[in-house]
Amino acid sequence: MTKTDHILLLAGTFEARQLAKQLSARFRGSRLTASFAGVVKDLPDLDVPTRTGGFGGVAGLSSFLCAERVTLVIDATHPFAAQMSRNAADACAALQLPLIRLERPVWTSLPGDTWRHFDTMQAASRALPQGARAFLAVGRKEIRHFTPRDDVYGLARMIEAPPQPLPAGWDLVLQRPSQSAFEEADLLRNHGITHVVTKNSGGGRAYAKIEAARRLKLPVFVIDRPQLPEAETAADIEGILEKARFLTDQTGS
Ligand code: NAP
Repeated sequence: MTKTDHILLLAGTFEARQLAKQLSARFRGSRLTASFAGVVKDLPDLDVPTRTGGFGGVAGLSSFLCAERVTLVIDATHPFAAQMSRNAADACAALQLPLIRLERPVWTSLPGDTWRHFDTMQAASRALPQGARAFLAVGRKEIRHFTPRDDVYGLARMIEAPPQPLPAGWDLVLQRPSQSAFEEADLLRNHGITHVVTKNSGGGRAYAKIEAARRLKLPVFVIDRPQLPEAETAADIEGILEKARFLTDQTGS
């Protein structure tokens, strides 16, 4: 790559943090900017130039890409950050810019698991039986789809508190997921959980709750991933780095 290259890394995941380190180490001649939505206040210090906040839709992102002379976009946002991923695909297609998207493999059930799949949070919320005690690992924005269910108990876990209060009697745990299935099983057991509700985020860092549900033989309500536009994808950090090298070589930079 040359001094004129500029990689825009759309961040928000653990992999994005690792990518920021790896890209700055391996693409030393290039400029790198990491972008965060700014939803979570305690942003990690990536040690690379960072910008925060929305771009202003496809038009705003396109303007940014042109003004900053971005030559490659790496979309390492969360699999459920669909709007950002769609905007990146549209803007890159219109500007004929290379785009690589991180697509973690989805979680799949094992024999003996009781999983139900849902397209939307609303559908999963409606399907909880009356009196259920649900572990809600759905995110601070999405919890609002469950709060109208005052006939169920909710244990909501998220990194930062939701904008609205939870129903009386519900519990809120403000922390990142544990990576220990033992700890996750303890949490579920201590709150008498009967159902686990989760996005199909994929990856290892939030998987322990799935394993815990398996051990406790609890049903899991899985919100399936939103559909995203066609793009060059890679399943992990190494795959992204390899494609980045290939694509930047292809563009003649
Ligand atoms: P979203 O619906 O795709 O994004 C909404 C808007 O936020 C985008 O249109 C964009 O605004 C801005 N945005 C998102 N990611 C950005 C980034 N990396 N840099 C700059 N702007 C960004 O996603 P979301 O509302 O953030 O989250 C949706 C789901 O993904 C939730 O389930 C959430 O828990 C999960 N999630 C998201 C992130 C994340 O970093 N976004 C991280 C972990 C989990 P403009 O249109 O104005 O550009």
